[in-house]
Amino acid sequence: MTARDVVAPAAHDHEAAVAFAEQAVDAFATVGYLPAHGSAVAETDGSTLFVSGGIQAWRRWIGEPGPAARAGLQWCVRMNRLADAGRSGFVTSFCMLTAARRGAVPRHEVLADLFTALGLIGVDVARTAFVIPALDDRCGDPLASEALAKLGVDADRIGYAPRRWAAPFGADGPSGPNLFVLLDRTGHGCGPGCAPGCGCGRYLHFWNCEFLDHRGGTDDGAGRIGAPVVDSAGGLERLWSAVTGEDMFAGPLLRPVLSALAAHLPGDPDRAGAVADHARSLALLLAAGIAPAARGQGHVARRLARRAGWLLIEAGSDPGALRPAVLAAQACNRAVADFGVASATALGWLDAEIGHCREGAAHGALLFHRWTHGRSAGADITRLVFRLRAERGVPLSLLRRWAARDGFTLDEQTLQALLDAERASSRSPALTAQVAARWAARTSQSTTPARR
Ligand SMILES: [Zn+2]
Repeated sequence: MTARDVVAPAAHDHEAAVAFAEQAVDAFATVGYLPAHGSAVAETDGSTLFVSGGIQAWRRWIGEPGPAARAGLQWCVRMNRLADAGRSGFVTSFCMLTAARRGAVPRHEVLADLFTALGLIGVDVARTAFVIPALDDRCGDPLASEALAKLGVDADRIGYAPRRWAAPFGADGPSGPNLFVLLDRTGHGCGPGCAPGCGCGRYLHFWNCEFLDHRGGTDDGAGRIGAPVVDSAGGLERLWSAVTGEDMFAGPLLRPVLSALAAHLPGDPDRAGAVADHARSLALLLAAGIAPAARGQGHVARRLARRAGWLLIEAGSDPGALRPAVLAAQACNRAVADFGVASATALGWLDAEIGHCREGAAHGALLFHRWTHGRSAGADITRLVFRLRAERGVPLSLLRRWAARDGFTLDEQTLQALLDAERASSRSPALTAQVAARWAARTSQSTTPARR
């Protein structure tokens, strides 16, 4: 039994999650960051990513008078590296703890406060490590190196990596170097070159500081601004991992969602993690009233719902298992940081996406049988498989399984050529319409079983 299979009472997890979130915000209050209350989601954020980063919700605060530092929680949804969700601790949505500060404050003072707050949350600060941007074989942020040295951080706890400056407000907004804060999990290197930032699994990257003290993204030290901002932030899920040393999916923020899926995806932690992750992001999107659609934020919701539905189908489960997982995620999200509830209409949208997957699987299986019956293996079968994917949305992995079951071998070269052509055509709307019309014409001709 793995940690992810453990079924824990949701109420206990909610209490633990709330306590951890409060402890984290309080820790920053201790060092002068005023707790920021209000909605945990940016109401006017229309980006595809929903909320792309904690500081985005506080754009207006940056230019306002008042206390210079604040800390609070925001939900973020992101869609890069979708295939990694569930594995290696990647999540498509996370509860961001942001501790932002306005005004010219020396790096070492910002970092001293950060160390104090992280220590209060339970991070072993002596085991932290750092990555500073490198610039043409030299340090890209000498101020950060000096600040860390001043705070007694040894050189072997600092790594360097080429990285563009952070510019969260676009080319004309404040920009500057970032500092990654990592936890040295094992204290043992993978080899002589192992340094902070090494991808061997030794380091957990759990916090980012963006020193936004320049303008225009010039990495050369020119263009300093008079009203700098420090955006210091990390996801609560990773922070919990940094404190406990456990997989974030075993933590109180994700475990209740996994528990809701335990009976449907036993012994498959990677798949269960991916579906749990998608359910959690869907809970956020549906509660915000975002309807699954072909474009924009709706596309994010649709892609997550269908991907989760097909992941369940591929494992031999019904995609309907997604609904209780979304509801479990919603209850947990609400417990941690104020958030709305998905309306009956929004849950209807979810049911429609689940129904789409269920019908796609049933109809796809029927068509696969009809189209392949009596045919021999080769390019023909490969084209049929590709067509089922394009027209019915049946994932390639499932089609491969059906083909193998029926003794067909796919022609990988033909398949790759078809996928390449599809990718090229998706960039041209006119061509896409042409292709769709062609497929529709062929479909209407081929409803009779291809028996020979
Ligand atoms: Zn290493």
